[in-house]
Amino acid sequence: MIRVLVWNEFKHEQESKKVASVYPNGIHSVIAEFLEKEKDIVVKTATLYDENCGITKELLDATDVLIWWGHAAHERVPDEVAKMVRDAVHEGMGMIFLHSAHHSKPFRLLMGTPCNLTWRESCDSEILWVIDPSHPITRGIDRYFKLDAEETYGEPFSVPNPDKVLLIGNYSGGEVFRSGLLYERGNGKIFYFQPGHETFPTFKIPAVQTIITNAVRFVAPSYRQVIPCPNVRKITDNMPYVI
Ligand code: ZN
Repeated sequence: MIRVLVWNEFKHEQESKKVASVYPNGIHSVIAEFLEKEKDIVVKTATLYDENCGITKELLDATDVLIWWGHAAHERVPDEVAKMVRDAVHEGMGMIFLHSAHHSKPFRLLMGTPCNLTWRESCDSEILWVIDPSHPITRGIDRYFKLDAEETYGEPFSVPNPDKVLLIGNYSGGEVFRSGLLYERGNGKIFYFQPGHETFPTFKIPAVQTIITNAVRFVAPSYRQVIPCPNVRKITDNMPYVI
């Protein structure tokens, strides 16, 4: 079983009637609900409002894939928590960053760059084009899918060059954006996925759910261990014969 932890800032849903009308129980609940339908996935949720903002070392040790949605309270996540998340990824934990988590502390730590982009809340529609149809994360998606309304994110996106670009978003306002990016950091795999503004029902859209579900399976660790830094003897020291 793949053990998923869905972490949500959960601020907008409690403070904005507009957002609460779309996600009355929080974005995390909607994501957990569709993932829980999968036979090979078990889901826990956590939010900024939980003790230690919902993240402990024990919990990360028992998490195969961490999904992160944050926007307006990135700074309220303690640096120590962000470092714990980074270290868990280096160890092998899979990680999916959604939408405005591009500015979250763990994402910036893992990228090492500002992760800035251009943006606009204007209800533009977006077409997400599949760049790599052979990839497991885009399985089940046609050449493209359309979101009737989404916050516009535009290039340049100041992240390191990804290992793969799986999706490119094209907005009715003209912008393009690399909307699905894959990275490896240490033993861990990272997927950044752009859709998911809080005022739109993006996480209820089947294509979005398919991509997140596929991504959970893809970034789930096959190997998880801290890569140590030991001072070691020559391997020939204890060998009777040297070839
Ligand atoms: Zn947004």
